[in-house]
Amino acid sequence: MNDCLFCKIIAGEIPSKKVYEDESCYAFYDIDPKAPVHFLVVPKTHISGPDAVEDENAALVGHIYAVIAKVTRELGLSKGYRVVANCGEDGGQTVGHLHFHVLAGRTLAWPPG
Ligand code: AMP
Ligand code: ZN
Repeated sequence: MNDCLFCKIIAGEIPSKKVYEDESCYAFYDIDPKAPVHFLVVPKTHISGPDAVEDENAALVGHIYAVIAKVTRELGLSKGYRVVANCGEDGGQTVGHLHFHVLAGRTLAWPPG
């Protein structure tokens, strides 16, 4: 029925290395890390991407940012981190389930490529 990779990870049908979980979101390490610390935070409900965020589900995005602040504190990432949500083809989105990359552990280039 649902062929979404991240929905399968949330359901435990595909293994992942959990960073954090609560009733509305799940965080797990990226399988192909782009920085020494690289994890993803996803809502448990299927939202296809940043362009599918609406007033009705926007609170979830705010909650995810609060979770990111808490988890990065717990991981000791006091030097900083970057949160990235890729959208669509030009934005480099490859998985159609809203996700926030959290990258840390080195100085990150700006602007991104
Ligand atoms: P994006 O390209 O922004 O859509 O990000 C998708 C991310 O999901 C990429 O950084 C992938 O490395 C990551 N990814 C793909 N499959 C898995 C998986 N099975 N477990 C963890 N991360 C994954
Ligand atoms: Zn999904």
